[in-house]
Amino acid sequence: MEQFKLGWIGLGNMGTPMVKNLLKAGYEVLVYNRTREKEADAIAAGATSAQDMAALTGQSDVIFVMVADDAAAKEIFTGDKGLLNADSEAKIFINVSTVSSETSKYLAEQCQAKGAFFLEAPVSGSVKPAEEGTLIVLAGGDADVLEKVKPVLAAIAKLTLHIGPVGTGSAAKLAVNYLLALNLQGLAETVLFAGQGGVSTETMLTIINESAAGNGITKLKGPAILKNEYPAAFALKHMTKDLRLATAQGLNTPLSSPVYQTFKDAEANNLGNEDVMAIIKQLKG
Ligand code: NAP
Repeated sequence: MEQFKLGWIGLGNMGTPMVKNLLKAGYEVLVYNRTREKEADAIAAGATSAQDMAALTGQSDVIFVMVADDAAAKEIFTGDKGLLNADSEAKIFINVSTVSSETSKYLAEQCQAKGAFFLEAPVSGSVKPAEEGTLIVLAGGDADVLEKVKPVLAAIAKLTLHIGPVGTGSAAKLAVNYLLALNLQGLAETVLFAGQGGVSTETMLTIINESAAGNGITKLKGPAILKNEYPAAFALKHMTKDLRLATAQGLNTPLSSPVYQTFKDAEANNLGNEDVMAIIKQLKG
């Protein structure tokens, strides 16, 4: 097995635990985060801080990017001080951030122009699976390149799926997050409706989670609803972004528009930096 030297850009809620799992698996990881202080946890776990992004490209074989959105990913790859400013020939770049299919294709073209390889690999699963190394990778790109890096991905994911060419991984990710958004709004509306009829939140959550109506997300988010505290695991603003991207990619169903509107309204009401489950505060009014 090839022992790649890894580079990692973006140490937010997802990036930091994912890097820790790569370190645990024995990889050398060079890291860079725009706000440099946020590298501290990864460095304490054994990562090395890169001087800048070009240096990170120069000193790594496989470079991961896990940042907020399309604009951030584009800036990191192609900006004045971006990754592709260094000699990138034969390097493998893997974008694990959630972006549009169009942005993924653009990044792939930019990498190809530099003689580099590109995979899109958005992940399904939030902070807990990121900590436990049980994410699901939804990869788009060349199957042979993916095969090469599968052992690396195994350190962060329980399952790596090759969806198809670049663009299809993003399409799959936006689709599964749409279902997640429906579940979150459905859970919030159900608990609030039950409350109107005199059913306590705790009782209603037990009914949901002990019945066929319950699922992974209703179990995961129950404790936050009971405490009425929503520190971000998956920031609500990122779900609004995903619904915006999905809508731009043609999502147009009876439920898609009202769910997107709820998330937009929640963000406008300053809930963007709270967890996605804070959608319940928006619905409570
Ligand atoms: P986060 O905690 O908000 O972290 C965002 C990261 O992006 C930070 O490292 C931030 O740097 C960086 N960033 C933002 N704008 C930037 C820019 N213009 N230039 C350079 N860096 C920039 O986000 P997260 O929860 O880790 O999510 C990251 C990505 O994964 C998003 O695309 C999200 O949709 C996706 N995702 C999230 C989850 C989840 O449950 N959290 C699950 C699956 C996928 P600073 O520290 O300098 O701000």
